[in-house]
Amino acid sequence: YGTLDGKVALVTGGSRGIGAATALRLARDGADVAVTYVNGKDAAADVVRRIEALGRRAVALRADSADAEEAVAAVERTAEALGGLDVLVNNAGVGVLGPLDGLALADVDRVLAVNVRGVFLTSQAAAARMASGGRIITIGTCMTQRVPWAGGTLYATSKAALVGLTKALARELGGRGIAANIVHPGPIDTDMNPADGPSAADQAAMTAIGRYGTAEEVAGMVAYLAGAEYVTGAEFAVDGGFAA
Ligand code: NDP
Repeated sequence: YGTLDGKVALVTGGSRGIGAATALRLARDGADVAVTYVNGKDAAADVVRRIEALGRRAVALRADSADAEEAVAAVERTAEALGGLDVLVNNAGVGVLGPLDGLALADVDRVLAVNVRGVFLTSQAAAARMASGGRIITIGTCMTQRVPWAGGTLYATSKAALVGLTKALARELGGRGIAANIVHPGPIDTDMNPADGPSAADQAAMTAIGRYGTAEEVAGMVAYLAGAEYVTGAEFAVDGGFAA
């Protein structure tokens, strides 16, 4: 038996990268899982197939976190398809890096809509739906703790907001038995940040361990937090020592 037997999880942005690895890991630990996506319909369907092959139920939902109605509706659609919601993983995010003077208003609006407003609204809807034992786990970034290069203003701004949200959610929901925590990945090999990308060697060198992490390594921390007791309002780095 898995630690998450009988639980229902929603992983936003679960078609690829950290979200896909997290969805699979939660299913391996016993959960039924909904994943959202925007463009990756086939990739999301593949994640569903792999979860079903583990003997769990799964559903792929097209839901753009930048769209307020869709960000909220993902919670109800999950509950309708899988019978409730116990674990929310706020993973969907966009990384827009670049010089301050090159960031347009549209960049600011887009990044804040996906990385902050969508996370807020989905968490709000999830909290309203969750019973005691509910878990809200948000994916931040090591750049909330250390920004060793130029070009991170917008991304770091957006992800730092999630630290405040997590601590405030923990205070707001603790009395109802619902925990909120945030995980800060370091350089993780995904489409967003490939381990053979132009700045990959610099990023790897900035860690204490000297390499990129894997999406599965981040998923392990999320799975721990999904089943943890007496852990809330806390930040967890899975960054190979990037912020040390
Ligand atoms: P990827 O770009 O590899 O995957 C992003 C996933 O999010 C995809 O499933 C994508 O769906 C989905 N997504 C993107 N935009 C939206 C949206 N508007 N609404 C719903 N889903 C969306 O990213 P990673 O796996 O690398 O990143 C996952 C999270 O981890 C992000 O929050 C990122 O900021 C954070 N992170 C990543 C790090 C890294 O080094 N990789 C480091 C620190 C933090 P689709 O397939 O449809 O495009």
